[in-house]
Amino acid sequence: FTKNNFNIKRGNFSHVEEEHLYFFRKLLGESRIITDLSDLEKYNVDWNKHLRGASTIVLKPKTTEEVSKILSYCNNNRLAVCPQGGNTGVVGGATPVFDEIIVSTELMNKVINLDEKSGVLTCEAGCILQNMDEFLQQKNLIFPLDLGAKGSCHIGGNVSTNAGGLRLLKYGNLHGNVLGLEVVQANGTVLDLLSTLKKDNTGYHLKHLFIGSEGTLGLVTKVAIQCRLRPKSTHVAFLGLQNFNQVLKTFYKAKQDMDEILTAFEVIDTPSMELANEKLGLGSPIGDYPFYVLIETTGSNEKHDEEKLDGFLQTCLNKNFILNGTVTGEVSKYKAIWEVREKLPQGYIKDGFVFMYDMSFPLENYYKLVEDLREHMGSLSHRVFGFGHLGDGNIHIQISVKEFNQDVANHIEPYIFELTKKYNGSISAEHGMGFLKAKYLNLMKSQESINLMKNIKQMLDPNGILNPYKVLF
Ligand code: FAD
Repeated sequence: FTKNNFNIKRGNFSHVEEEHLYFFRKLLGESRIITDLSDLEKYNVDWNKHLRGASTIVLKPKTTEEVSKILSYCNNNRLAVCPQGGNTGVVGGATPVFDEIIVSTELMNKVINLDEKSGVLTCEAGCILQNMDEFLQQKNLIFPLDLGAKGSCHIGGNVSTNAGGLRLLKYGNLHGNVLGLEVVQANGTVLDLLSTLKKDNTGYHLKHLFIGSEGTLGLVTKVAIQCRLRPKSTHVAFLGLQNFNQVLKTFYKAKQDMDEILTAFEVIDTPSMELANEKLGLGSPIGDYPFYVLIETTGSNEKHDEEKLDGFLQTCLNKNFILNGTVTGEVSKYKAIWEVREKLPQGYIKDGFVFMYDMSFPLENYYKLVEDLREHMGSLSHRVFGFGHLGDGNIHIQISVKEFNQDVANHIEPYIFELTKKYNGSISAEHGMGFLKAKYLNLMKSQESINLMKNIKQMLDPNGILNPYKVLF
């Protein structure tokens, strides 16, 4: 669907004209500007292929200085800008709504420094997550973030969305791991917050303003991040369970028995697994069960970790928390198990039109909304399913329908968000508000908080050129 579905008015921004093109060409040269309609397509359309922008130009700066000149020029000429990393975001944050200029970080992809002793990596914003992790692997280090889109998402995009991912349970979120940032403000001012110190309480922690602000407050150009030692031992268990209550019992037991090595605790429900079967040809390695759990442990002592995991699994079997399972420490085998979980988003985009939600809840309410939605949707949808990072209270809920239909959309929203609030949850656990959820911000934040957010936006971007119509709208 397009902006026509959203009843939104274009802001009072200039349109890109020949004089602007002249400036950008002079700054970047012809080869780092895209204006050809077919080449623009992949930047104008979001990952889910739900949204289409109408940008007429993509700019590909290579340096902070170029970003600074672009933003300063855009600010002076009231040209709106949409920062874009790998374009894997799923809430429309990186897709222009009208004809915003897309500033892509894809050519800002250099490692600046790796301090092997401290594990601090400093890199440009356009570095691809998987490339960084492979680079770190050679030094026996690991990036403290991992997610299904790692092959194309950028570190700058990860920081700007405060991405959570598969191993947040162990490594915590980016507010904790990012040590420093370099950011270009809307008026082109370069803000050097690129500290690599772990402790630095000298005044306000400005970097946090930009972590998770989805390109609305500044354009992140460099990131310093604390990486960890690569674990020596990794084990993955894939389990089948009777009901959600048993899933919770298994999680609490896992925390109790092996908190220090627990890296991931993911849950998958039956319709999600059916989807993996039908659309991806992937499936459960242990047969069919109402719920599946994927547990990963990582540590420094193979024998110790194995004993702990085996002991935990034995107790879960004895107590009937789990019905069946398989466990492996072999790289190829655990990668195959992870593949089922990581590829789920690639399956559901083949399942007709999918309404996607990314919620977090107190664990006792974690699965309630999926059950409510099945009843609420009745025959209007062909699949309502949930899977996600249970260890972080984070569930991805999907509703598949044959094709997009506004009446069905109205049947889902705001119902789904109101219920999320009733269950003390968040309507965006890790994906952000972007464009698609921005109008529901008032469900989550008090008026006082929204006013403060608006004041901060006004102060940092008085002309509102940075990612308009997103987050605060
Ligand atoms: P983009 O999509 O390009 O941009 C996202 C937002 O950040 C936009 O608002 C954009 O304007 C802004 N932005 C991008 N770069 C910059 C910059 N340099 N400066 C300022 N603003 C910028 N997310 C999770 O949190 N956890 C997951 O487990 C997860 N799994 C995923 C699996 C799949 C298969 C897919 C497709 C997505 C998944 N996501 C997940 C969502 C997405 O990958 C993340 O939000 C990711 O961090 C986005 O990075 P990106 O470079 O693609 O950013």
